[in-house]
Amino acid sequence: MLILTTPEQVHNWRSSLPSAHRVGFVPTMGALHRGHEVLLQTCLSQNDTTAVSIFVNPTQFNDSTDYDNYPISHERDISLATHHGVDMVYLPTKDVIYQAGFNSFVSPGSTAYSMEGTARPGHFEGVTTVVAKLFNTVQPHRAYFGKKDFQQLSVIRQMTQELNYSIEIVGVETVREDHGLAMSSRNERLTADQRQDAKIIYESLCAAQDLLRTNQQSSEILQEFSSQLSRSSFAKIEYATICDAKTLTEVQVVETPCMLCVAVWYDSVRLIDNIELNL
Ligand code: AMP
Repeated sequence: MLILTTPEQVHNWRSSLPSAHRVGFVPTMGALHRGHEVLLQTCLSQNDTTAVSIFVNPTQFNDSTDYDNYPISHERDISLATHHGVDMVYLPTKDVIYQAGFNSFVSPGSTAYSMEGTARPGHFEGVTTVVAKLFNTVQPHRAYFGKKDFQQLSVIRQMTQELNYSIEIVGVETVREDHGLAMSSRNERLTADQRQDAKIIYESLCAAQDLLRTNQQSSEILQEFSSQLSRSSFAKIEYATICDAKTLTEVQVVETPCMLCVAVWYDSVRLIDNIELNL
């Protein structure tokens, strides 16, 4: 497995591949867990060549403590990628991605305006900028993103379509721990008790989804989510929003395919999750 660290090296590698080869790409921030592994396996099964990037992107963190505390485990990540049969890992430094004086940013579209976009100002601009740079460097045919970060997937789909990237964006189902908590690198920062307790997020999402069978009013479904979650003494809701699954605009009544998206705090650890609301 190749480990490359600059855009020039990646361009050279990319142009050495046979033109008929389908190239799949999985962008990550490392600290790989089973959720990432499913992305890798999906990519490996659908493409001739699989590239993975590992880069903790400073411009998408609106909170510098969150950035400073982000887990790094390059050695483990590289052996995991080797084990799965990944062809190339792109591992740039911060200075390679953001050269001195860097100030060209990609402004995200309307899907970025709510939820994470409001709660974390500048977050999606950091995401679209780094993903555009990674797409331009790796030039994949397909790129894989998790539905766990549903809004991120939507923002990337919108950017890819509106900026005419000819890259197929593949959304991969959320991978959960056995008790239901969505896998996340941030779960490592929960105490054992909090990690066990955090299964309540998914339980509450499922209870809200169940209510949809008899009640389509967003306010009632959100009330069900919040009353289920209040069984936990740790969890505090930052937002819980029901939005149209395509446009991500908030809806009062669930009539089209929708998503219930939530951000929940456990002390200083912020977790996000979501569930589909289909009639
Ligand atoms: P991250 O390293 O957190 O930036 O995540 C890299 C990619 O993995 C993103 O597309 C995430 O949506 C995806 N991902 C993270 N956690 C999960 C999960 N539990 N299930 C599916 N995909 C995930």
